[in-house]
Amino acid sequence: APAAARTDDPAHATPARLPPGRSARPRLSCVVPCWNEARNLALLLPQLDEALQHCGCDWELILVDDGSTDGTAALLAEAALRPGLRVLQLARNFGKEAALTAGLGAACGEVVLTMDADLQHPPALIAEMLALWRRGADMVYAARSGRADEGLLKRLGAAVFYRLMNAASGVTLPAGAGDFRLMDRVVVDALLALPERRRFMKGLYAWVGYDAVALPYAPPPRAHGRSRFGLWRLLRLSIDGLTAFSTWPLRAAGLFGGVLALIGFGYGGFVALQALLYGHPVPGWTTVIVSLLFLLGVQLVSIGILGEYVGRIFDEVKARPLYVVKRAWGRGLPSRES
Ligand code: UDP
Ligand code: MG
Repeated sequence: APAAARTDDPAHATPARLPPGRSARPRLSCVVPCWNEARNLALLLPQLDEALQHCGCDWELILVDDGSTDGTAALLAEAALRPGLRVLQLARNFGKEAALTAGLGAACGEVVLTMDADLQHPPALIAEMLALWRRGADMVYAARSGRADEGLLKRLGAAVFYRLMNAASGVTLPAGAGDFRLMDRVVVDALLALPERRRFMKGLYAWVGYDAVALPYAPPPRAHGRSRFGLWRLLRLSIDGLTAFSTWPLRAAGLFGGVLALIGFGYGGFVALQALLYGHPVPGWTTVIVSLLFLLGVQLVSIGILGEYVGRIFDEVKARPLYVVKRAWGRGLPSRES
């Protein structure tokens, strides 16, 4: 396989001296969310077995059954009898982000890998991802080289979404990155420390930071079945992503309201002055229009102020940590207990 061949490449080879916190033989947890993937799992499990046997790690495989209604549950129940395999069955379909979070929560390894069950994430790349981790990367994400396999609408939607997200959210989503990732334990712990309920994983990976390295790959097509993320579901996911990582729509609405209010006040003042100087042919018109413009302006500005507070409440409610410490060196005063 080309992926295996690249591991022998000096650029990807394990250095003789490993950086701190890296070991030649880490414990690896591999997390796979599955929703109605019986036919794909039958293909994937042997391939994963093969890849994990050769990765030079002690490993566990955590399969999260996200409320499957086909033969997945039965297949997993049988697979779980084998050593190294754990199955987590969710009570219904909670969605991929929830299934991933459940799997990350259950993982025990120093290194955690997440991948799809549909063979779009080739297990042969795992060795290469591990090599990059051993060389010091905190997170290795497989980056798809293109979207030529996707329809025009999906590609267009993705382009718009990534542009909006990167411009407005304060985090940068790397192009082509998906849920095929290898993470150091520190990254997993940082992710699990985020208590928010609407979890947009791609955004969270970027939010926690750390040294992320891309590993380019060409995703093969889905082995069996169709993608669960149709246009409608992708649209909902992008709205989740945009709203979880920005409050600019609120601010834009407030700003727009403020501008309209200013125009209203200006015109109201002009009409009032005109009536005082020259009078107005329709009695009462000036009073009505000026009070209307004034009250509408006050309302718009008040809604803008509310928007600002709602944005702050939203940030507080998400209760994300203020920062994530990557590493700490040195010592200060001796601790009081000792
Ligand atoms: N998946 C899941 N729950 C869902 C939808 C999807 O666990 O509600 C899993 C699915 O079984 C697969 C992975 O998420 O392992 C990716 O799904 P899919 O291939 O449909 O997405 P795409 O490759 O189009 O992004
Ligand atoms: Mg897929």
